[in-house]
Amino acid sequence: MSASLDKGINALKRQVDSTVASFFSSCVHCGLCAEACLFYTETGDPKRTPINKTEPLRRIWKSEFTLIGRVGKMLGLTKRVDDKFLEEWQELVYDSCTLCGRCSMVCPVGNDIALMIRKTREGMAAAGQAPDGLIGATTRAVTIGSPMGVKWPALQAQIRHVEEDTGLKVPVDVAGVDYMLLLSSMEIMNFPEFIEAVAKIFDKAGATWTISSEAFEATNSGIQIGVSDIAAELVQRVVDSAEKLRVKTVISPECGHAYTAIRWDGPNLIGKAFTFKVRHILEVLDDLRKAGRLKLSGKESRKLTYHDPCQISRRGGATAAARYLLEDATDFREMTPTGNFNWCCGGGGGVQAMSRAADLRHKVFQIKMKQVEDTGASMMLSACANCRLTMDDSKAYWNWDHELESLVELLAEHLVEDEPHPFDAKPHLATNM
Ligand code: SF4
Ligand code: SF4
Repeated sequence: MSASLDKGINALKRQVDSTVASFFSSCVHCGLCAEACLFYTETGDPKRTPINKTEPLRRIWKSEFTLIGRVGKMLGLTKRVDDKFLEEWQELVYDSCTLCGRCSMVCPVGNDIALMIRKTREGMAAAGQAPDGLIGATTRAVTIGSPMGVKWPALQAQIRHVEEDTGLKVPVDVAGVDYMLLLSSMEIMNFPEFIEAVAKIFDKAGATWTISSEAFEATNSGIQIGVSDIAAELVQRVVDSAEKLRVKTVISPECGHAYTAIRWDGPNLIGKAFTFKVRHILEVLDDLRKAGRLKLSGKESRKLTYHDPCQISRRGGATAAARYLLEDATDFREMTPTGNFNWCCGGGGGVQAMSRAADLRHKVFQIKMKQVEDTGASMMLSACANCRLTMDDSKAYWNWDHELESLVELLAEHLVEDEPHPFDAKPHLATNM
C-alpha cells in the first residue's frame, strides 16, 4: 500500500463516528436524494447520485466498523479502497458536488449527505486525490492568505479607489468598533463595488466598522478541499484579529462557504467559543433595517428574482433576511422552488476553482436559467460572489441575456437620501411666532 493511500484510509477511518455509522446503516436506498441533486438531474448519470459520492467512506465504514464487513474483509469479499478506486471517485467527490445540501433536505431518514461528502473529501485529500485547482487555492490561502493570491497592497489599492469614488473613509485596523468586515478575494478583485456599497450603507446607518489588514480574507479553502487542520488555521487568523481589535461582530460577506466556515464550523474547528458574534452581511443589514437605521426607497421597479446561495440560505439560515431586505422592491418574483429548496448555481464547494469542471458547471447551470426564465424576471440578484462568478461565467457561455447583481449593491443604490434635520425648519418657525 502506498504511503498516501495509507494516510487516506486512516483519514477516512477517523471520520467514522456515530453520526456516520447511523447515516450509513439507516439509508434505505430510496433514491430521493438523486432527484434533489442537479448533477444527477442535469446529466442523468447514475454515478452522480449523492449517496454514491460517499462510497469511499461507506466502504471504510463497512469493512472496518461492521461485523459483516470485517468477516467479508477476512474472506476477501469486501470491496476494497485502493488508489485506482479513489482516483475514479475524485471527479464525483469534488467536481460533481457543490456541498449545496439539497440532497440532505429530502432524505427521509435525515441523512446529511452533504456532510458525508465533506468527510469523504478529508480522506481523498489525505490520499493525495484532491484536484490540482483546489490544491493550488489552498496552498495560496495558507502561504499568502488568499486562495487567489491577493495580498494586502492589492486590497489597499481597491480601498483607495472606493474612497476616491465615494468621498468616504474606509476604516482599517480600527479597534473597539462594532463590526469587522471580512471580504472574499473574489469581491476584492472581481466585485470591488461590494466594498463601496458597504461603505455607503454603513455611513448612512452610522455603523462603526473596520477591515483588518492582518485577516481580511473570508474564504476558507480548508473546508472546500477537506483538510480540517487548514480550515482551523484559517479560522484562527480571523479570531486573532477580531480579538486584537476587540470588535463585537465579525461580518461574513457575500460568500457562501465563508459563512459556513466562520459561523457554523469555526468554533468547533478551533475548539473554543468565539468572544464575538458572527453574522452574515444580510443579517446585519436586516438588523439595521429593523432598527430604522437602514432606510430604503421603493424606486426599484425592474423585474427581480433572488438566487438563494446554498450556504447562506439552506445551510446558513439567512433566507428570510434577504426577503425582508427586498420588501421595498416593487416587482419581486420568487423562483420555483425557492428559499431553502432553491437550486444551486453549480459552482460552490470549490467547483468554481476547478477549471476542468467548467463544462459540467455550464451543463448544470441550465436548471438555474430555466428557473429564472420561468419567473419572467430580467434580473437575478444573489448574495454570494462565488455564485455570481459562476453565473457570470455560465451566462457568457450560454449567451444568456439576463442581468446579475449583488443584493447588497442593489440596496446601496436605493438608500434614502438624508431627511431634513428637524432644526433646519427653526428660522421658519421663528418667523411665524
Ligand atoms: S450536496 Fe448538492 S451537489 Fe452535492 S450531492 Fe448533494 S445535492 Fe448534489
Ligand atoms: S435519500 Fe437518504 S435514504 Fe434515500 S438513498 Fe439517499 S441517503 Fe439513502
